[in-house]
Amino acid sequence: MLILGGTGEGRALGDAITDDPRFKAIYSVAGRTKAPLLPDHESRVGGFGGVDGLASYLMANSIDILVDATHPFATIMSANASQAAEMTHVPLIAITRPGWAAGPDDRWSEAATLEAAAKAIGVAPARVFLTIGKNDLTAFRAMPQHHYVIRSVDPPDVKDLPPDHVVIAARGPFSVADDVALLKRHRIDVIVSRNSGGRATESKLIAARALGVPIIMVVRPPLVRVAARFTTVSEALDWLRAHHGASLPTERGV
Ligand code: NAP
Repeated sequence: MLILGGTGEGRALGDAITDDPRFKAIYSVAGRTKAPLLPDHESRVGGFGGVDGLASYLMANSIDILVDATHPFATIMSANASQAAEMTHVPLIAITRPGWAAGPDDRWSEAATLEAAAKAIGVAPARVFLTIGKNDLTAFRAMPQHHYVIRSVDPPDVKDLPPDHVVIAARGPFSVADDVALLKRHRIDVIVSRNSGGRATESKLIAARALGVPIIMVVRPPLVRVAARFTTVSEALDWLRAHHGASLPTERGV
């Protein structure tokens, strides 16, 4: 099994499935972070070289099943996985954690893209908490009047940064108390987030709700088609165990 990871779900699946002697998992990350969290079982770091590279990898390593457990915003990898699975007839399943949903006390607005999110901050100078990772900050260079507090696992490239910024290099999970303190300390007017879902980074949403801070939430990209899609690791595990040894579905309808 090849697990496309970079997520807690990917690691949890690999750890759980390697306890089952019928399975052997290889966990894969892109190598975006300086110190990726890797499991004890076999893993690899770095891109495959596009769709053809992934298809070759699947064949060369006799992969029987491909699991897309990437982050919901890792759109290129998910699309490549779908195409490579189709080319090689290797069954593809996906684990996609549910997105966050606004409650009655939340002040959310939605943006389709990061560019739209940057525009939605408005014209008047604002203090913005940016939690979209380090790779896609350039949209905010077009709105240089704002002060940005940027939190990412590793520091971003200087060339990508808007002029007025503070960088906080930190890896979740974060606590609500710490995020309340952060929002107060930096006098944050608005948060820009992707709708990543999951527990590890939801503390900022709870902190924002408590303080009445608005959030501009970037909506998720469309899903690619896979043979089966699960929202939790345990559902995926059940399916994998139930289908072991069976002819796995390669048609993609979910
Ligand atoms: P992306 O834009 O969808 O992918 C860009 C390229 O990175 C892919 O074409 C592939 O290179 C390589 N890649 C991505 N995921 C890979 C994996 N699991 N194993 C090997 N190569 C991979 O991806 P991204 O948004 O930069 O995310 C990169 C990684 O960080 C993913 O593992 C993702 O789960 C994790 N992550 C992303 C976010 C986010 O907000 N996007 C947040 C947390 C974690 P080749 O074409 O050369 O194969």
